[in-house]
Order: sequence, then C-alpha cells, then structure tokens
Amino acid sequence: MIFNPEKECMSREDLRKLQSERLVKIVKHAYDNVPFYKKKMDELGVKPEDIQSIDDIVKLPFTVKTDLRENYPDKLFAVPRKDIVRFHASSGTTGKPIVAGYTAHDVENWAEGTARCLAAFGASDEDTIQVSYGYGLFTGGLGAHDGATKLGAAVLPTSAGNTAKQIMLMEDLGSTGLCCTPSYALFLAEEIEKLGVKDKLKLKFGAFGAEPWTENMRKELEDKLGIKAYDIYGLTEISGPGVGGECECQDGTHLWEDMFFPEIIDPVTLQPLPEGQEGELVFTTLDKWGMPMLRYRTRDLTHLNYTKCKCGRTMVRMGRILGRSDDMLIIRGVNVFPSQVESVILEFPEFQGQYFITVDRINNVDTFQIDVELREEFYSENSADMEKYKSALTARLISVIGIKPDLRIVAPNSIERSMGKAKHALDKRKLQ
Ligand code: ADP
Ligand code: ZN
Repeated sequence: MIFNPEKECMSREDLRKLQSERLVKIVKHAYDNVPFYKKKMDELGVKPEDIQSIDDIVKLPFTVKTDLRENYPDKLFAVPRKDIVRFHASSGTTGKPIVAGYTAHDVENWAEGTARCLAAFGASDEDTIQVSYGYGLFTGGLGAHDGATKLGAAVLPTSAGNTAKQIMLMEDLGSTGLCCTPSYALFLAEEIEKLGVKDKLKLKFGAFGAEPWTENMRKELEDKLGIKAYDIYGLTEISGPGVGGECECQDGTHLWEDMFFPEIIDPVTLQPLPEGQEGELVFTTLDKWGMPMLRYRTRDLTHLNYTKCKCGRTMVRMGRILGRSDDMLIIRGVNVFPSQVESVILEFPEFQGQYFITVDRINNVDTFQIDVELREEFYSENSADMEKYKSALTARLISVIGIKPDLRIVAPNSIERSMGKAKHALDKRKLQ
C-alpha cells in the first residue's frame, strides 16, 4: 500500500516546486533563529534571499557532526523551548551525545515518514508490529512506534533484549511485523531456530535498519524467519528511522524527498557528484522546525538513483549503505568496510553472519584478524574439515577485499550477540 500517494507519487516537477518553496522557508527560519547558521551563512556571504529555489542549495554551508557536538545541547534549536515536545540523543560513543529537539509538527512528519515505510513493507491497520528497537533516547524504538501507530497497526513495544520473552510474545500475540536492527534480527532468528517455533510464528515482514547490512544478510534473514526483509534508514540529526525505506521491489531505499532533500558529494572536494556515483550522503531538512539541518554531512556512503521505480513512487532510491566513512578500516593501505566482509561470509552456506574484525599494528605491520562462526551443524573438532572451510573463505575474502585476513573459525555462539547496533570491528591501532 502507498501511504501517501499524493506525496510519494507526485511528479518530479511538482516535487521540485514543493522542495523549492520549503527550502526558501526553512533557510530563512534557520538564519533568523539559529546564530550558528546566521554566522555560517554570513561568512559565506549568503543571505536567505539568495535562496530562491532548490537549485540554490549548493550555496548553503555544510553542517557536520562536530557542529552538533559543539552546540550541545540545544544551541541549534530554532524554536522557543516551549515548542519542543520531544528530545532524542544519538549514542555518541565518545564525548557528548548529539541532542535533537522536535516540535509537534516534526514528530508528526517523522511518524509520517515511518508510516510510509511500513506501508511500503505491506503493513496496514490489520498488522501487529513488534518494535524490538530500543526505546529511549535512541530514535529507533519510538520512531517505529509512532509510525506504526499512525498506520493504525497494533504496536507490541517489546524494546530490545529479553529475547526469550520477545519470542514468546511474538508467538502468543501473532506479531506480523518485526522492527529491529538486522543484527538483533539474526540473533532472534537463531533463538527461534533453537526453540523450533518458526512454524508457530505469523511474521510476514521485517523493518531492519540503524546499521549497515547486505543483500546476503537479507537472504539469510528472509530464509531463517520466513519473511520479507526490508531496509529502513534514518538518523537522529535528520529525525530518526523513516527518512526512507524500501518498497516491495526491494530495489533501493526510497527517500522521502518532500521532507529530506538528499545530495551526494565527494567527501574530499565537497562537490556534488553526478547521479549514480558513490559518495557521501548529505541531507537538508525541508520541513523540520525544531532543529533544521542545512546540508548535513551524514558520512554515510551510498549513491542515488532517480529512475522511476516499478512501484509507482517517484521518490529517489538510495543504494545500500556501504558504511560510514568512519567505519572504514584502512589496512595495509587497503580500504575495508565490515559490510564487505559480511557479504562474503554469507556467500558460504556453512557460515552465519556472526563475525568480528580486529585490526592492530604489530612491528609496524597491520594485522587483520577475522573471527567467524560456523553454523552449528558444520562445526566439528575435525581440523581437516575446519581447514577446508577456512581456506575457501580466505581465498574468497582475498579476491573481494584484496588483502589476506588471518581467519579464525570460532565455536558457535562465541561471538557476542547484539541487541541493538552491532559492533563488528575493533581497531586497536586507534588505542595505541
Ligand atoms: P548513532 O550515530 O549514535 O549511531 P543514529 O541512530 O542516529 O545514531 O545512527 C544513524 C546512522 O545509522 C546513520 O547515519 C547510518 O550510518 C546508520 N544507519 C541507519 N539506518 C541504516 C540503514 N538502513 N542501513 C545502513 N546504515 C544505517
Ligand atoms: Zn519503489
């Protein structure tokens, strides 16, 4: 179902008009109410009047994550505090978290974005949607919750964790949709397999996001859970999950461009890149008033496809996110993303998607260790068998990534499972 056909299927020409109107307003709002934006625009010699249409967006300054940290907690808010109805904060592993403030209108729009995604995944008011993203400052839980509520579905707000109870409720209440990170979905799938209750579940679709995942992981989750698995994308700075989502075609993540204007830039030259080219995703919020963001550099690497989708939606489609530029490991001069490793591992039926990368520098040489779990049924104490799996996977990793990892096959269930965003790599060189 298309939740809002008027917007999701509008002609590109009308969309452009709407984006232009909205950009003019939001730039003025940011300039007049956020000293940070006034200063940045003044420095560039750009006045709100210089922004007449969406084509003028390139005149605007960029915003980066450190700008949000430096303006902690609320200096980027553009409305009086009484108009803020919600706060969220992103995890921020180091230093201060990033705080986002939303007006009632912003929360409505966010819910609309998420409802559009859930509807595109086939959900309706007939569904019971289990939200197993964490509730709290993290945008995942409440974001999915509000979207499902807007759709009129029944929400089962289990939050993340307490896996046995999750599965019991999933079975007893007949959840038809599951919202969580792909890593947690994999963990749930493993537990469901162990309990042998897959056939008792009514799950039809999964809304997975908040971290990079691959096509091979999609296959794994669809097989294990007997569902259709869809991508949902978002970030706290721009609102939360539901900035975009896949449709039934599973051929790119539609971004809700009437609300969030995307650009792809070269992260080094900061110049916009031609359509289809891989680069850094940048967003301008066109209808967010509590904390408007102008040209926010997400550090997420992807590409955009403007060709019309078979589903009838006209909104642009984003490719899978390879990772954030800061997830990239440079090992012996070669760029490696954990998502590439995941994709290769899952090509092999003997392995499952549980892995952990450790990078270090010993005697001036980078070390690159990958711990990976074999599926229980393939694991044995027979070292000849283990060697066979190991050399096959190593050879494939070398051909895809370009360097040789030190691969270690570890016992099933020995890699820590994640309830939220999984941590797939540790770069010890950064700790030195
Ligand atoms: P934090 O920055 O603390 O992780 P967020 O929850 O705001 O907090 O994280 C947003 C980021 O999560 C995005 O910028 C992106 O890197 C990642 N992300 C979210 N959804 C997806 C997705 N569907 N695919 C890949 N990465 C995603
Ligand atoms: Zn589509």
